[in-house]
Amino acid sequence: MKKLRVVGSGLAGAEAAWQLARHGLTVELIDIKPGRMTPAHSSIYPAELVCSNSLKSDDPHTASGLLKREMRQLDSIVLAAADASSVPAGSALAVDRSAFAKEVKRILDQTGLIIWREEEFTSLPADDENIEDDCLTLIATGPLTTDALMQSMAREWGDMLHFFDAAAPIVSEESLDPDHYFAASRYGKGSADYLNCPLDKETYLAFREALIAADKAEIKEFDRKVFEHCQPIEELAERGEDTMRFGPLRPVGLEDPRTRQTPYAVLQLRREQSSGGMYNLVGCQTRMTFKAQREVFGIIPALRKAEYLRYGVMHRNHYIKGPQVLTWGNRVKSQQTLFLAGQLTGVEGYMESAASGLITARQMALIAAGMPAEECKVLALPNTTMLGALTNYVISSDSVDFQPMNANFGLLEYAEGYKAKRKRERKEQAILMSDHFMGEWLDLYNSYCLRYGLDVERS
Ligand SMILES: Cc1cc2nc3c(=O)[nH]c(=O)nc-3n(C[C@H](O)[C@H](O)[C@H](O)COP(=O)(O)OP(=O)(O)OC[C@H]3O[C@@H](n4cnc5c(N)ncnc54)[C@H](O)[C@@H]3O)c2cc1C
Repeated sequence: MKKLRVVGSGLAGAEAAWQLARHGLTVELIDIKPGRMTPAHSSIYPAELVCSNSLKSDDPHTASGLLKREMRQLDSIVLAAADASSVPAGSALAVDRSAFAKEVKRILDQTGLIIWREEEFTSLPADDENIEDDCLTLIATGPLTTDALMQSMAREWGDMLHFFDAAAPIVSEESLDPDHYFAASRYGKGSADYLNCPLDKETYLAFREALIAADKAEIKEFDRKVFEHCQPIEELAERGEDTMRFGPLRPVGLEDPRTRQTPYAVLQLRREQSSGGMYNLVGCQTRMTFKAQREVFGIIPALRKAEYLRYGVMHRNHYIKGPQVLTWGNRVKSQQTLFLAGQLTGVEGYMESAASGLITARQMALIAAGMPAEECKVLALPNTTMLGALTNYVISSDSVDFQPMNANFGLLEYAEGYKAKRKRERKEQAILMSDHFMGEWLDLYNSYCLRYGLDVERS
């Protein structure tokens, strides 16, 4: 059996290490943390959620929910920990980020198969180094991979691609003005999980003007390549008077119990941990200076005296040219023994990164047990599943402008017999199709496990 090492204990790396360990394989899990941290990481635990505590919708009729459903079928540690640490958030799966990360660590430790190593990985291993050590390496160092390793990748594979991603501020509950918010979920779905801060027209317009005029933090080489789903709130304000009202500040489905009316606009606050105490300003990722954040968000009545537990920040995120560098199984084309996973490969989002770690590790487990790397193609998940469509996009996209990708229904290929005309029915069909093809794939995967002597019970 080959030696296995996973570099990066983030969403992808932690999920990958678990998938390897649950096949009974020992894994070295290497991270620069906790001795040194990237600009966005601060926790000593693995699987750190650096920004929002929401893992998005859990409803399988959404792309993100369907991805979760498939990952649960594949025994994802990220979802097991999320289910154990969830906080109420309507139909979204949101977690207490500290409890979540501790649960991931606990489950990993319980396997007794994880060797934790604190170390900065500074260069790509050459294939012959890995072969000499009889070792497979998976690199999942994420969008904020440290400079030395990134330069090594750029030397090997050409310049890295990048985009900017921003995080929203977190405020303390006790500093909010209860006279200016109400608890409710949109359309009354589920329990009243969000604190909603209503804005009248005058306040909304003043807030918009202040966002546009505010001082923004100077970010090295900021070139406005911002991921579409993570636009800073001030960029949305600039797009048009109503852009925020149709976006993160939309009031639909929310009625202020004091006026019995739908407010002009609503800023929602989402709970950060089950005990309350900390709230995230939903959709308010920003690159305003810290002083400007206090002033501009202070225009919202409920936030006049808000205490900021974490300010919003923006970072440059790197990823490789997936289709040029990677082949089936997320293996590096030019090397038999090197794999990549997570956001570094061109998927975007917490769940997508974990999903990429999950599927890559399942292929690696078989290669470690003796399967030739070329067989990864046979074991690729089909595009009729969300997980397959997402991971196949990363290695096979023919776009000239390769962009990071979230799970979405546009990626799915509808098999004969699963095509429906109406939108709602299409989503029902997508769930049925996913269940069918995931079941077929699991049978195939298990037969490979048997062939290569891996424990099927564990697979
Ligand atoms: C500021 C910011 C905000 C974001 N907000 C969201 C959000 O709200 N929702 C969402 O879904 N996604 C968000 N993302 C995007 C993305 O989904 C996350 O970054 C996700 O954590 C990526 O998972 P990963 O496993 O690929 O990388 P990470 O989770 O970043 O894990 C990488 C790990 O590798 C370690 N590492 C880095 N370099 C080295 C090295 N050279 N040697 C050893 N270890 C190293 C790091 O310490 C880290 O633990 C955000 C990203 C950023 C940067």
